Amino acid sequence: MNDVLIQRIELLQVAMSPPRPHVAAHGTVGERTVVLARIWDTDGAHGWGECVAFPEPGYLAETVDSAWDALKSGIAPAVLNRPFDSLDHLSDYLTGSVRHAPVARATIEMAAWDLVARRQGRCLAELLGGTRQNIATGRTIGLVKAPETITDRVDEARRDGFQRIKVKIEPRKALSIAIEAVKAAQGIPVVADANASFSSGDVQKLRELDAAGLTWIEQPFTPTSLRAVADLSDSLQTPIALDESVSSINAVERIIAMQAARGLSIKPGRLGGHSATRQVYRLALAAGLSLWIGGMLETGIGRAHNLALASLAGFDVVGDMGPSSAYWTRDLLTEPLEMVAGHIAVPTGHGIGVEVDTEYLRMATLRRQVFG
Ligand SMILES: [Mg+2]
Repeated sequence: MNDVLIQRIELLQVAMSPPRPHVAAHGTVGERTVVLARIWDTDGAHGWGECVAFPEPGYLAETVDSAWDALKSGIAPAVLNRPFDSLDHLSDYLTGSVRHAPVARATIEMAAWDLVARRQGRCLAELLGGTRQNIATGRTIGLVKAPETITDRVDEARRDGFQRIKVKIEPRKALSIAIEAVKAAQGIPVVADANASFSSGDVQKLRELDAAGLTWIEQPFTPTSLRAVADLSDSLQTPIALDESVSSINAVERIIAMQAARGLSIKPGRLGGHSATRQVYRLALAAGLSLWIGGMLETGIGRAHNLALASLAGFDVVGDMGPSSAYWTRDLLTEPLEMVAGHIAVPTGHGIGVEVDTEYLRMATLRRQVFG
Protein backbone atom coordinates (compact mmCIF):
# COMPACT_ATOMS: atom_id res chain seq x y z
CA MET A 1 0.00 0.00 0.00
CA ASN A 2 1.33 3.48 -0.88
CA ASP A 3 1.54 5.99 1.97
CA VAL A 4 -1.78 7.58 2.86
CA LEU A 5 -2.04 10.91 4.61
CA ILE A 6 -5.25 12.17 6.20
CA GLN A 7 -5.33 15.91 5.72
CA ARG A 8 -8.87 16.77 6.75
CA ILE A 9 -11.35 15.44 9.31
CA GLU A 10 -14.94 16.53 9.66
CA LEU A 11 -16.77 15.53 12.85
CA LEU A 12 -20.56 15.68 13.01
CA GLN A 13 -23.25 15.15 15.59
CA VAL A 14 -26.46 14.09 13.91
CA ALA A 15 -30.03 13.71 15.27
CA MET A 16 -31.68 10.37 14.45
CA SER A 17 -35.27 9.25 15.18
CA PRO A 18 -36.29 5.60 15.56
CA PRO A 19 -39.78 4.36 14.63
CA ARG A 20 -40.12 3.13 18.26
CA PRO A 21 -37.82 3.46 21.28
CA HIS A 22 -35.40 0.61 21.93
CA VAL A 23 -35.97 -0.73 25.47
CA ALA A 24 -33.43 -3.03 27.17
CA ALA A 25 -32.29 -3.85 30.70
CA HIS A 26 -29.59 -1.15 30.44
CA GLY A 27 -32.06 1.64 29.55
CA THR A 28 -34.22 3.11 26.78
CA VAL A 29 -32.86 4.68 23.59
CA GLY A 30 -35.27 6.92 21.71
CA GLU A 31 -34.28 10.01 19.72
CA ARG A 32 -30.55 9.69 19.47
CA THR A 33 -27.49 11.80 18.72
CA VAL A 34 -24.88 9.97 16.64
CA VAL A 35 -21.28 11.05 16.05
CA LEU A 36 -19.97 10.62 12.51
CA ALA A 37 -16.59 11.32 10.94
CA ARG A 38 -15.65 11.99 7.36
CA ILE A 39 -11.97 12.03 6.45
CA TRP A 40 -10.08 13.06 3.30
CA ASP A 41 -6.60 12.22 2.08
CA THR A 42 -4.24 14.36 0.01
CA ASP A 43 -5.66 12.92 -3.23
CA GLY A 44 -9.22 13.89 -2.34
CA ALA A 45 -10.40 10.36 -1.52
CA HIS A 46 -12.75 10.22 1.46
CA GLY A 47 -14.07 7.75 4.02
CA TRP A 48 -16.95 7.62 6.50
CA GLY A 49 -16.90 6.35 10.06
CA GLU A 50 -19.52 6.15 12.79
CA CYS A 51 -19.12 6.24 16.56
CA VAL A 52 -21.33 3.70 18.36
CA ALA A 53 -21.42 5.57 21.70
CA PHE A 54 -24.84 6.47 23.08
CA PRO A 55 -25.61 9.83 24.70
CA GLU A 56 -25.93 8.09 28.11
CA PRO A 57 -23.29 5.82 29.72
CA GLY A 58 -25.68 2.92 30.54
CA TYR A 59 -24.31 0.47 27.96
CA LEU A 60 -20.78 1.68 27.17
CA ALA A 61 -18.43 3.69 29.38
CA GLU A 62 -17.81 6.08 26.48
CA THR A 63 -20.58 8.53 25.58
CA VAL A 64 -21.31 10.89 22.69
CA ASP A 65 -19.69 13.73 24.69
CA SER A 66 -16.62 11.80 25.83
CA ALA A 67 -16.03 10.36 22.34
CA TRP A 68 -16.42 13.82 20.81
CA ASP A 69 -13.80 15.21 23.21
CA ALA A 70 -11.43 12.28 22.57
CA LEU A 71 -11.80 12.72 18.79
CA LYS A 72 -11.21 16.47 19.00
CA SER A 73 -8.34 16.66 21.44
CA GLY A 74 -6.58 13.28 21.14
CA ILE A 75 -7.37 11.44 17.94
CA ALA A 76 -7.60 14.16 15.28
CA PRO A 77 -4.23 15.70 16.23
CA ALA A 78 -2.61 12.22 16.35
CA VAL A 79 -3.58 11.18 12.83
CA LEU A 80 -3.76 14.42 10.83
CA ASN A 81 -0.89 14.84 8.35
CA ARG A 82 0.83 11.71 9.62
CA PRO A 83 1.42 9.23 6.80
CA PHE A 84 0.63 5.53 7.30
CA ASP A 85 1.58 2.65 5.02
CA SER A 86 -0.89 0.08 6.34
CA LEU A 87 -4.12 0.10 8.28
CA ASP A 88 -2.41 -1.75 11.14
CA HIS A 89 0.13 1.09 11.23
CA LEU A 90 -2.71 3.64 11.52
CA SER A 91 -4.30 1.51 14.23
CA ASP A 92 -1.06 1.80 16.24
CA TYR A 93 -1.15 5.64 16.03
CA LEU A 94 -4.75 5.60 17.15
CA THR A 95 -4.20 3.23 20.06
CA GLY A 96 -1.33 5.42 21.24
CA SER A 97 -3.44 8.58 21.01
CA VAL A 98 -6.28 7.63 23.38
CA ARG A 99 -5.66 4.23 24.89
CA HIS A 100 -8.90 4.06 26.87
CA ALA A 101 -11.29 5.26 24.18
CA PRO A 102 -11.66 2.35 21.69
CA VAL A 103 -15.15 3.50 20.70
CA ALA A 104 -13.91 6.97 19.73
CA ARG A 105 -10.86 5.49 17.97
CA ALA A 106 -13.01 3.13 15.90
CA THR A 107 -14.75 6.14 14.33
CA ILE A 108 -11.57 7.22 12.52
CA GLU A 109 -10.13 3.73 12.12
CA MET A 110 -13.20 2.52 10.25
CA ALA A 111 -13.34 5.71 8.16
CA ALA A 112 -9.75 4.96 7.13
CA TRP A 113 -10.70 1.44 5.98
CA ASP A 114 -13.47 2.98 3.87
CA LEU A 115 -11.02 5.52 2.46
CA VAL A 116 -8.36 2.92 1.62
CA ALA A 117 -10.92 0.67 -0.09
CA ARG A 118 -12.12 3.64 -2.18
CA ARG A 119 -8.51 4.52 -3.11
CA GLN A 120 -8.00 0.96 -4.29
CA GLY A 121 -11.29 0.93 -6.20
CA ARG A 122 -12.56 -2.00 -4.12
CA CYS A 123 -15.50 -2.59 -1.86
CA LEU A 124 -14.75 -2.74 1.85
CA ALA A 125 -16.05 -6.32 2.11
CA GLU A 126 -13.38 -7.43 -0.37
CA LEU A 127 -10.63 -5.46 1.41
CA LEU A 128 -11.60 -7.13 4.70
CA GLY A 129 -11.51 -10.57 3.07
CA GLY A 130 -15.28 -11.12 2.92
CA THR A 131 -16.85 -13.64 0.58
CA ARG A 132 -20.58 -13.69 1.40
CA GLN A 133 -22.90 -11.58 -0.78
CA ASN A 134 -26.04 -11.57 1.37
CA ILE A 135 -26.35 -11.27 5.12
CA ALA A 136 -29.27 -12.83 6.98
CA THR A 137 -31.27 -10.40 9.11
CA GLY A 138 -32.19 -10.56 12.79
CA ARG A 139 -34.88 -8.59 14.59
CA THR A 140 -34.42 -7.39 18.16
CA ILE A 141 -37.52 -6.91 20.27
CA GLY A 142 -37.07 -4.66 23.30
CA LEU A 143 -38.33 -5.35 26.81
CA VAL A 144 -42.10 -5.56 26.88
CA LYS A 145 -44.32 -4.76 29.88
CA ALA A 146 -46.70 -7.70 29.37
CA PRO A 147 -45.31 -11.02 28.06
CA GLU A 148 -48.51 -11.52 25.97
CA THR A 149 -47.56 -8.56 23.75
CA ILE A 150 -44.38 -10.36 22.69
CA THR A 151 -46.49 -12.61 20.46
CA ASP A 152 -47.57 -9.76 18.18
CA ARG A 153 -44.05 -8.40 17.88
CA VAL A 154 -42.57 -11.81 17.08
CA ASP A 155 -45.38 -12.49 14.57
CA GLU A 156 -44.61 -9.22 12.83
CA ALA A 157 -40.87 -10.00 12.67
CA ARG A 158 -41.55 -13.50 11.33
CA ARG A 159 -43.92 -12.19 8.66
CA ASP A 160 -41.34 -9.54 7.67
CA GLY A 161 -38.93 -12.39 6.95
CA PHE A 162 -36.34 -11.96 9.70
CA GLN A 163 -34.18 -15.06 10.09
CA ARG A 164 -33.58 -14.76 13.83
CA ILE A 165 -35.46 -13.10 16.65
CA LYS A 166 -33.85 -11.67 19.74
CA VAL A 167 -35.91 -10.78 22.78
CA LYS A 168 -34.60 -8.62 25.57
CA ILE A 169 -35.13 -10.11 29.01
CA GLU A 170 -34.61 -9.21 32.64
CA PRO A 171 -34.98 -11.54 35.64
CA ARG A 172 -38.62 -10.79 36.50
CA LYS A 173 -40.39 -12.03 33.35
CA ALA A 174 -37.65 -13.84 31.48
CA LEU A 175 -39.25 -17.28 31.37
CA SER A 176 -42.70 -16.17 30.20
CA ILE A 177 -41.19 -13.90 27.53
CA ALA A 178 -38.91 -16.68 26.29
CA ILE A 179 -41.75 -19.21 26.13
CA GLU A 180 -44.11 -16.81 24.29
CA ALA A 181 -41.37 -15.77 21.85
CA VAL A 182 -40.30 -19.32 20.96
CA LYS A 183 -43.92 -20.36 20.44
CA ALA A 184 -44.69 -17.36 18.19
CA ALA A 185 -41.42 -17.72 16.23
CA GLN A 186 -42.59 -21.04 14.77
CA GLY A 187 -39.14 -22.49 14.35
CA ILE A 188 -37.16 -19.31 13.69
CA PRO A 189 -34.21 -19.23 16.12
CA VAL A 190 -34.85 -17.13 19.23
CA VAL A 191 -32.10 -15.56 21.36
CA ALA A 192 -32.76 -14.10 24.82
CA ASP A 193 -30.51 -11.15 25.63
CA ALA A 194 -30.28 -10.29 29.34
CA ASN A 195 -27.91 -7.32 28.88
CA ALA A 196 -26.12 -8.25 32.11
CA SER A 197 -29.27 -7.89 34.22
CA PHE A 198 -29.00 -11.18 36.17
CA SER A 199 -27.00 -11.57 39.37
CA SER A 200 -25.63 -14.63 41.14
CA GLY A 201 -28.92 -14.87 43.06
CA ASP A 202 -30.83 -15.35 39.78
CA VAL A 203 -29.08 -18.54 38.65
CA GLN A 204 -32.22 -20.62 39.22
CA LYS A 205 -34.16 -18.33 36.85
CA LEU A 206 -31.52 -18.89 34.18
CA ARG A 207 -31.71 -22.65 34.73
CA GLU A 208 -35.47 -22.48 34.15
CA LEU A 209 -34.81 -20.83 30.78
CA ASP A 210 -32.97 -23.95 29.67
CA ALA A 211 -36.22 -25.73 28.74
CA ALA A 212 -37.65 -22.77 26.78
CA GLY A 213 -36.13 -23.79 23.43
CA LEU A 214 -33.85 -20.75 23.03
CA THR A 215 -30.91 -21.01 20.64
CA TRP A 216 -28.72 -18.73 22.78
CA ILE A 217 -28.82 -16.90 26.09
CA GLU A 218 -26.83 -13.70 25.70
CA GLN A 219 -24.86 -11.88 28.40
CA PRO A 220 -26.57 -13.02 31.61
CA PHE A 221 -24.09 -11.37 34.04
CA THR A 222 -21.97 -8.22 34.25
CA PRO A 223 -19.17 -8.04 31.65
CA THR A 224 -16.32 -9.15 33.94
CA SER A 225 -18.21 -11.99 35.69
CA LEU A 226 -16.61 -14.64 33.49
CA ARG A 227 -16.28 -17.31 36.20
CA ALA A 228 -20.03 -17.14 36.85
CA VAL A 229 -20.75 -17.42 33.10
CA ALA A 230 -18.40 -20.39 32.75
CA ASP A 231 -20.16 -22.17 35.63
CA LEU A 232 -23.56 -21.41 34.13
CA SER A 233 -22.42 -22.64 30.69
CA ASP A 234 -21.43 -25.96 32.27
CA SER A 235 -24.85 -26.41 33.86
CA LEU A 236 -27.09 -25.51 30.87
CA GLN A 237 -27.86 -27.18 27.54
CA THR A 238 -28.63 -23.80 25.94
CA PRO A 239 -25.37 -22.22 24.80
CA ILE A 240 -24.32 -18.92 26.38
CA ALA A 241 -23.07 -16.02 24.25
CA LEU A 242 -21.32 -12.89 25.41
CA ASP A 243 -21.74 -9.37 24.07
CA GLU A 244 -20.92 -6.65 26.63
CA SER A 245 -17.92 -8.77 27.74
CA VAL A 246 -16.44 -8.62 24.21
CA SER A 247 -14.76 -5.25 24.74
CA SER A 248 -11.11 -5.89 23.78
CA ILE A 249 -8.66 -8.48 22.50
CA ASN A 250 -7.57 -9.12 26.11
CA ALA A 251 -11.15 -9.67 27.18
CA VAL A 252 -11.63 -12.23 24.41
CA GLU A 253 -8.41 -14.03 25.41
CA ARG A 254 -9.82 -14.32 28.95
CA ILE A 255 -13.20 -15.59 27.67
CA ILE A 256 -11.41 -18.27 25.64
CA ALA A 257 -9.03 -19.27 28.45
CA MET A 258 -11.93 -19.68 30.87
CA GLN A 259 -14.22 -21.36 28.31
CA ALA A 260 -16.86 -18.94 29.52
CA ALA A 261 -19.05 -18.91 26.41
CA ARG A 262 -19.72 -20.66 23.11
CA GLY A 263 -20.66 -17.58 21.09
CA LEU A 264 -19.59 -13.95 20.79
CA SER A 265 -21.41 -10.89 19.53
CA ILE A 266 -18.75 -8.89 17.70
CA LYS A 267 -19.06 -5.10 17.39
CA PRO A 268 -16.23 -3.39 15.50
CA GLY A 269 -17.30 0.04 16.77
CA ARG A 270 -16.70 -1.15 20.35
CA LEU A 271 -13.44 -3.05 19.75
CA GLY A 272 -11.56 -0.07 18.26
CA GLY A 273 -12.29 -0.75 14.59
CA HIS A 274 -11.79 -3.30 11.84
CA SER A 275 -8.11 -4.17 12.55
CA ALA A 276 -8.79 -5.09 16.19
CA THR A 277 -11.96 -6.91 15.16
CA ARG A 278 -10.06 -9.06 12.67
CA GLN A 279 -7.64 -10.06 15.44
CA VAL A 280 -10.54 -11.00 17.71
CA TYR A 281 -12.18 -12.86 14.81
CA ARG A 282 -9.07 -14.97 14.17
CA LEU A 283 -8.59 -15.76 17.88
CA ALA A 284 -12.24 -16.67 18.42
CA LEU A 285 -12.53 -18.84 15.31
CA ALA A 286 -9.36 -20.72 16.21
CA ALA A 287 -10.94 -21.39 19.61
CA GLY A 288 -14.04 -22.82 17.94
CA LEU A 289 -16.45 -20.10 19.04
CA SER A 290 -19.58 -19.17 17.06
CA LEU A 291 -19.58 -15.55 15.94
CA TRP A 292 -22.00 -12.94 14.74
CA ILE A 293 -22.01 -9.21 14.16
CA GLY A 294 -23.92 -7.32 16.82
CA GLY A 295 -25.73 -4.04 16.40
CA MET A 296 -25.40 -0.71 18.19
CA LEU A 297 -28.42 1.00 16.59
CA GLU A 298 -26.14 2.33 13.85
CA THR A 299 -27.15 4.59 10.98
CA GLY A 300 -26.74 3.24 7.46
CA ILE A 301 -23.07 4.28 7.58
CA GLY A 302 -22.17 2.10 10.55
CA ARG A 303 -24.46 -0.64 9.27
CA ALA A 304 -22.67 -0.68 5.90
CA HIS A 305 -19.38 -1.20 7.77
CA ASN A 306 -21.00 -4.06 9.71
CA LEU A 307 -22.38 -5.63 6.52
CA ALA A 308 -18.89 -5.66 4.99
CA LEU A 309 -17.51 -7.39 8.07
CA ALA A 310 -20.41 -9.84 8.26
CA SER A 311 -19.44 -11.02 4.76
CA LEU A 312 -16.40 -12.83 6.20
CA ALA A 313 -16.74 -16.60 6.39
CA GLY A 314 -16.97 -17.46 10.06
CA PHE A 315 -19.73 -15.04 10.99
CA ASP A 316 -22.06 -17.98 10.64
CA VAL A 317 -24.73 -17.13 13.19
CA VAL A 318 -27.44 -14.62 12.27
CA GLY A 319 -26.66 -11.35 14.04
CA ASP A 320 -28.35 -8.01 14.65
CA MET A 321 -28.49 -6.95 10.99
CA GLY A 322 -31.65 -5.20 9.85
CA PRO A 323 -32.87 -2.86 7.13
CA SER A 324 -32.80 0.94 7.63
CA SER A 325 -36.55 1.01 8.26
CA ALA A 326 -36.22 -1.25 11.33
CA TYR A 327 -34.09 1.41 13.04
CA TRP A 328 -34.84 4.88 11.68
CA THR A 329 -37.80 6.82 10.35
CA ARG A 330 -35.28 8.19 7.85
CA ASP A 331 -31.74 6.86 7.37
CA LEU A 332 -28.80 8.94 6.15
CA LEU A 333 -28.45 7.09 2.84
CA THR A 334 -29.77 8.06 -0.59
CA GLU A 335 -30.90 4.44 -0.91
CA PRO A 336 -31.86 2.92 2.46
CA LEU A 337 -30.67 -0.63 3.17
CA GLU A 338 -33.50 -2.95 2.14
CA MET A 339 -34.30 -6.47 3.18
CA VAL A 340 -35.09 -8.99 0.44
CA ALA A 341 -36.21 -12.50 1.39
CA GLY A 342 -34.81 -12.04 4.88
CA HIS A 343 -31.38 -10.86 3.72
CA ILE A 344 -29.52 -7.62 3.01
CA ALA A 345 -27.10 -7.51 0.10
CA VAL A 346 -23.52 -6.56 0.96
CA PRO A 347 -22.89 -3.29 -0.92
CA THR A 348 -20.55 -3.78 -3.86
CA GLY A 349 -19.68 -0.14 -4.63
CA HIS A 350 -16.29 1.29 -3.67
CA GLY A 351 -15.59 1.52 0.07
CA ILE A 352 -18.64 0.94 2.25
CA GLY A 353 -20.60 1.02 -1.00
CA VAL A 354 -23.47 3.22 0.13
CA GLU A 355 -24.14 6.84 -0.76
CA VAL A 356 -24.75 9.35 2.04
CA ASP A 357 -27.66 11.72 1.47
CA THR A 358 -25.62 14.86 2.10
CA GLU A 359 -28.59 17.22 1.84
CA TYR A 360 -30.54 15.34 4.50
CA LEU A 361 -27.37 14.94 6.56
CA ARG A 362 -26.98 18.73 6.61
CA MET A 363 -30.54 19.11 7.91
CA ALA A 364 -29.99 16.48 10.61
CA THR A 365 -26.64 17.90 11.77
CA LEU A 366 -26.60 19.41 15.27
CA ARG A 367 -22.90 20.16 15.55
CA ARG A 368 -19.95 20.19 13.18
CA GLN A 369 -16.23 20.69 13.53
CA VAL A 370 -13.51 20.51 10.89
CA PHE A 371 -9.80 19.83 11.44
CA GLY A 372 -7.02 20.37 8.88
MG1 LIG B 1 -26.63 -7.88 23.36
